[in-house]
Amino acid sequence: MSNTDLIIIGGGAAGLMAGVSAGELGLKTLVLERKARPGRKLLMCGNSRCNLTTNISEDRMVQMFGEPVGPFLAPALSAFSPSMLQRWFAANGLKTVVKTGNKVYPHTEKAADVLTLFTDLLRDRNVSMACSAAVQTLEKTKNGFRVTTDNFVVESKYVLIATGGVSYPKTGSVGDGQEWAKRLGHTVEPFKPGLAGFEVEPNVIKGRIGKIYERVTVDVLSKGQIVGQTRGVFEIEKWGVGGTALTDASRIVARLNLKDYRLRVNLGDGKFEEIRPLQTRSIKEAMVTVGGVALGEINGQTLESVKCPGLYFAGEVLDVDGPTGGYNLQAAFATARLAVADVGRRCGKKVSSLWKKKHSKRLLRGGTVEGGVRAEADRKRGCLQIMRL
Ligand SMILES: Cc1cc2nc3c(=O)[nH]c(=O)nc-3n(C[C@H](O)[C@H](O)[C@H](O)COP(=O)(O)OP(=O)(O)OC[C@H]3O[C@@H](n4cnc5c(N)ncnc54)[C@H](O)[C@@H]3O)c2cc1C
Repeated sequence: MSNTDLIIIGGGAAGLMAGVSAGELGLKTLVLERKARPGRKLLMCGNSRCNLTTNISEDRMVQMFGEPVGPFLAPALSAFSPSMLQRWFAANGLKTVVKTGNKVYPHTEKAADVLTLFTDLLRDRNVSMACSAAVQTLEKTKNGFRVTTDNFVVESKYVLIATGGVSYPKTGSVGDGQEWAKRLGHTVEPFKPGLAGFEVEPNVIKGRIGKIYERVTVDVLSKGQIVGQTRGVFEIEKWGVGGTALTDASRIVARLNLKDYRLRVNLGDGKFEEIRPLQTRSIKEAMVTVGGVALGEINGQTLESVKCPGLYFAGEVLDVDGPTGGYNLQAAFATARLAVADVGRRCGKKVSSLWKKKHSKRLLRGGTVEGGVRAEADRKRGCLQIMRL
């Protein structure tokens, strides 16, 4: 058995936050990343501006995630809420700003600065990271786990899988974590594109490519009923229709497993447009993956598997996805931190230091909680609403 407490597989948003958090606790940690550099998807976030979170309360965030993701994430969001996330970044030297729609960005509005912060903190906290280290297999051993990469084998008592979903596979997330989870006895919910645009008949976009409608409402209609509502931007692209209102609608389509549906776009001034999409864009073009390791087999209080003790999951490898606006990074960061807290507790570390009081004294100013965002999961009507005003 090696003297490593924790091996983190994946150096994306969740893996980097987990590594830094493990460093805060003084855990002997190794992060393994397939790509030559970590955080490839992080660098793409928010058009490279990195929408870190949404400035709303954790309760509202739980509502916005909807069933079943919200209730599962509630303990993680409570332990590391959107406001705590902002304080954490500020306390570590990267202030954040709240922009339109309560979207929170680093004040420099550069994703590269977020990645640099993480890699600097890993270095400062003596956390090892091996890049170009694609993990091939993960096996349970008598005392923990054996992790085999192309070039070396490492063992540790605890492993955190943070290998992401399957969207944008060129960034390194290709579904390896879900495969290992399956082999270790877990259920993996089928992958579907979340936060993607829709392909449509050519006549829908003809003569309008490039047109942007800034504030629309979209009703997702199925069997004559409104089953979901979103609000935001509507864009006509050369491949179909997109923009935040439409990408959020695609998540509803995926979550409700809709086959026969239409999108009614309220353009304002009494003008409506009804679209019957051919299909959602491919998962490779989606911003998130709906599906992943089944939430019922993971303890939401600790992120430990109930099937395989000592194995933890964080981020999009889980069947976790949220709307546009910083929800997905918030989920990745919060699950990573809660998982590491549990490993720390089991390794006898003083976990309360993860949620240092001094951070709260450095609260960022501005940004009223919840202002500008309305969300409601109207379970009675079975209607998931995602409203961004
Ligand atoms: C274009 C785009 C823009 C986005 N913008 C935003 C935004 O502004 N705000 C927001 O909240 N969300 C945004 N998202 C979603 C967000 O990026 C993801 O939800 C988040 O990155 C998930 O983090 P993760 O760590 O779980 O996975 P990832 O970031 O995908 O990281 C997984 C890591 O694991 C590594 N890995 C995989 N398999 C192995 C293996 N076998 N061995 C070793 N390493 C491995 C990968 O190389 C990768 O680095 C965006 C997504 C896209 C595609």
